[in-house]
Amino acid sequence: MPKAMPKTETEWKKKLAPEQYRVLRQCGTELPFTGKWLHNKETGMYVCGACGAELFPSDTKFDSGTGWPSFWDAASAKAVKLKEDRALGMTRVEVTCAKCGGHLGHLFNDGPRPTGQRYCINSAALDFKKGARRHA
Ligand code: FE
Repeated sequence: MPKAMPKTETEWKKKLAPEQYRVLRQCGTELPFTGKWLHNKETGMYVCGACGAELFPSDTKFDSGTGWPSFWDAASAKAVKLKEDRALGMTRVEVTCAKCGGHLGHLFNDGPRPTGQRYCINSAALDFKKGARRHA
């Protein structure tokens, strides 16, 4: 049986490393070019660092030059939730994990083909499962 999902911030704090907690639960942003998955080119699935939900297949990853792992699509439309974020005097689209609500990063519309989307995601919000999963 999988472990029950934490319900309170205290439980999340216990489960996650400090940087994971800051990003996933407090909408933090890691410094660019510091994340663990930025240069990862292995084949597999990026999953939520908090709950393990499948989020981004490795074959949607591309080098955006921004310093954060970037993807042109999510594993499925249901994997992520998008909401308007008006923090810092900007209007951006926040990307969260649909399963646990964890903050992942932001979505921009200047990505490559075929979608033109750029999911700008913190490494600290992700784990990686090596394997041969392909984008559908
Ligand atoms: Fe999650």
